[in-house]
Formats: sequence, structure tokens, C-alpha cells
Amino acid sequence: METIAGPPVCLVTGGNRGIGREVCRRLAARGATVLPTARAPEAGSGLLTLDVTDAPGVVRAAEEVRSRFGRLDVLVNNAAITYDTWQRASTADLDVVREAAETNLYGPWRTVQAFLPLLRASGHGRIVNVSSEAASLTNMGGGTPAYTASKTALNALTRMLAAELRPDRILVNAICPGWVATDMGGPGGRPVADGAAGIVWAALLPDDGPTGGFFRDGRPLPW
Ligand code: NAP
Repeated sequence: METIAGPPVCLVTGGNRGIGREVCRRLAARGATVLPTARAPEAGSGLLTLDVTDAPGVVRAAEEVRSRFGRLDVLVNNAAITYDTWQRASTADLDVVREAAETNLYGPWRTVQAFLPLLRASGHGRIVNVSSEAASLTNMGGGTPAYTASKTALNALTRMLAAELRPDRILVNAICPGWVATDMGGPGGRPVADGAAGIVWAALLPDDGPTGGFFRDGRPLPW
């Protein structure tokens, strides 16, 4: 990222709590210009409004970034819902599966589409799709079906975008933060700082860094 004129401009979805908030904090500590976003920011929080399920709202957020910065260097698709430990694939409530996909798959997809002109304008764009090892096909079981199916599709989107956007010099990777002690992860996981570190690594990759990969802590995971 050294080649960008000025600090990289970074946008993080779901930046109000959990891993997303820590990613914002660490990117800012590295000198980046960080745009934390939230679907419903508290008044006076300074967060940009971005609900990834609200298509016109995502377009409005992109328009605001365009008018303020004219480009986006890093998009971190972090927002997600529904770690559905209570159901199994064979009996899953498909309304829950559909709802999870709306946030975890279509959310990042529409956000990429809206911000793509700004990422292209960067010349050094990075897209970080926050995924999960639950989406690894190699060892997949029948648990957390809504979450797992949505993140597996997000991994597929990562591969497609990486291939398509290579000529635009946009690096696209899927990152598993590991099991992290957040509202989603629950108690017992590792600290948010550890989960966020691998995401920041992917956000600030050099121009000759990897694309189309699946990583945790900077090391490849099996698809
Ligand atoms: P979290 O504590 O539950 O936070 C989720 C964040 O996503 C919140 O900021 C939430 O905003 C936001 N969000 C949900 N729906 C949204 C929407 N429609 N538009 C915008 N923001 C939305 O989860 P986390 O543990 O930090 O997880 C962050 C990422 O890491 C997720 O992609 C998750 O799948 C992944 N991950 C986590 C773990 C883990 O162990 N924690 C493991 C593997 C992967 P509100 O405050 O408005 O609800």
C-alpha cells in the first residue's frame, strides 16, 4: 500500500462493535483514514450509515465516499449475522437461511458493486471478505447451516471477484478471524485483537500480495 498517494481510505461494514470495531481501531493506528460504518449509528458517534441489506442506502454511502475522497482503497466486508448453532442442514428453517444470505452474501456483493468504481479509482484496491473456517468445504459438517452456506457462497464470490478484478489491480481475499470472543463468537474465543490482525493484514497487502485466497492469521486455509 506504500504506493498510494496519502493514507489509504478504508471502509469497514459493521464497524460499531466486535471484530469490525477493532479492525477500524487497528487500521487507524497504522495511519489509515478509516470510515467505520454501522447500520444504525448512534447519534453523535461519527459513524457512516451503511446497512448492507439496504440497497439504496449502500449506494448513498458510496456517493458520500466519492464526494469526500474520490476513491476507496480498502473495503472490509465484515458485517454478518446468524451463527445458527440451534439448527442442522436437514431440518433448517429456510427463511433463516435466506435472511442470513441477505446480510452475509448479498450484503457484501451489493457493497462491492456500489463501491467498485471507487476501488478502481484507487489503482490499489483491496477487498477483504470476512469469512469463517466453517465455510471450508474440506471438513464441513451439518451444523450452523444458514451461516455456513452464506459464508461458503461468500468464498465463491471472493474467487470470482479476484479473477475478474485482477486486471484492475484489486486484491480480493477471504479471511477467517478464528474463534473470537464477541457477541457472535460468545465467551471462550480469542481476543478481538487477534481476530482483527489477519483482517488488517489482508487490508494492507502490498501490490504483489495474494488474491483469491482464504487465510487465517496470514496463512492459507483449505477451501
Ligand atoms: P458481532 O459481534 O455479532 O458483530 C456483527 C456486526 O455486524 C455488528 O456491528 C452488526 O451491527 C453488524 N451488522 C449486522 N447486520 C448488519 C447489516 N445489515 N448492515 C451492517 N452491519 C450489520 O460479530 P463479530 O464476531 O464481530 O463478527 C465479525 C465478522 O467475523 C463476521 O463476518 C463474522 O461472520 C466473522 N467471524 C466471526 C467469528 C467469531 O468467532 N466471532 C468467527 C469466524 C468469523 P449491529 O450492532 O447493528 O447489530
